[in-house]
Amino acid sequence: MSGASDSQIVFDAIHTQKKQQHLVRMMSETALEVHKIPNHNVKFESCVICKSSNVLFHVNKFGFNLDRCCDCGHIFCNPMPNSSQLNFYYNSPMKDFENEFFIESFEKRVPIFKKRIEIIKSFVPKGKLLDVGSAIGIFISALQREEYGFEVHCCDPSDGACRLLKEKYPEITIHQMMVEQLKADCGFDVVTMWDTLEHVESPVDVAMSIKKLLTPGGYWFFSTPNTDSFEWKVAGVDHVQLLPPGHINLFNLQSIKRVLLDADLELVEYFTPNGTLDVSYVKKLLQNGTPEYIKNAGNFFYQHIEDDSFLAAFAKLLTDTKYAGNIVVVARKRLVEDKG
Ligand SMILES: [Zn+2]
Repeated sequence: MSGASDSQIVFDAIHTQKKQQHLVRMMSETALEVHKIPNHNVKFESCVICKSSNVLFHVNKFGFNLDRCCDCGHIFCNPMPNSSQLNFYYNSPMKDFENEFFIESFEKRVPIFKKRIEIIKSFVPKGKLLDVGSAIGIFISALQREEYGFEVHCCDPSDGACRLLKEKYPEITIHQMMVEQLKADCGFDVVTMWDTLEHVESPVDVAMSIKKLLTPGGYWFFSTPNTDSFEWKVAGVDHVQLLPPGHINLFNLQSIKRVLLDADLELVEYFTPNGTLDVSYVKKLLQNGTPEYIKNAGNFFYQHIEDDSFLAAFAKLLTDTKYAGNIVVVARKRLVEDKG
């Protein structure tokens, strides 16, 4: 689960300089255009995931209101942008900008997918695999660099992405459509969906569509930002991934469990493999000396003080980095004493 490739998985490599410099401007410009399209979606009175009415305003980003559920902790766009707005957004220059930095950071992102492939292989060594939201195909590329026993299918609604995938990977089967449009009973042993669930309006509907595509006992592997993480707890409402109308549902373990429960899918295991990303992002935040971030970092530790596995790992970290409170010194006398 770790290795030399970890050194590549750091914030500045994954998020190129160009992206960091222009993201807010690009997003603001695009959002202005998106807001020109009328949206008659009504505001939800309750959490879109657990239905609790205990929902509070979280933050406004790019003119979109985000609420947070006090019960399950889910963060969601409220009201949700409508389909015309989303359609505009996903065909705007913002999407090209995003694809451009994905292409620029392609090789740096491969190790992230290698870890995901290790996880898949530990559960399912072979079979029929469907990758949902393949985009520029970093996962497919990472998969092709390994020994694998999968018959690979891709599914992506984007014309540009599908053309690129066809050219680059002629041996895989490409379905240019939304996952909900794929015909059920395809009998996939594995469905993968990387960093896509945060973009969808109705995660439960997507989960149900995926369930229909799986063979009995088949696995759905997905990733999405984890708002219960170190980096999210430190960054708070300034987190870089608070990006509506792109990211409209932001999960934590509790809201993920609820989606799976509602779709009648079993939670088998979960991982958060890229700790190096959190550390490098939090380092950037703390380097500014912002008192709020320093306080948040302390609070993160405080909130986990009762978690024995967290404390054991933290104790190991202190020992490994020689920051534990008792020092053991090993010294010896020189063979030849320095006379000078
Ligand atoms: Zn909730």
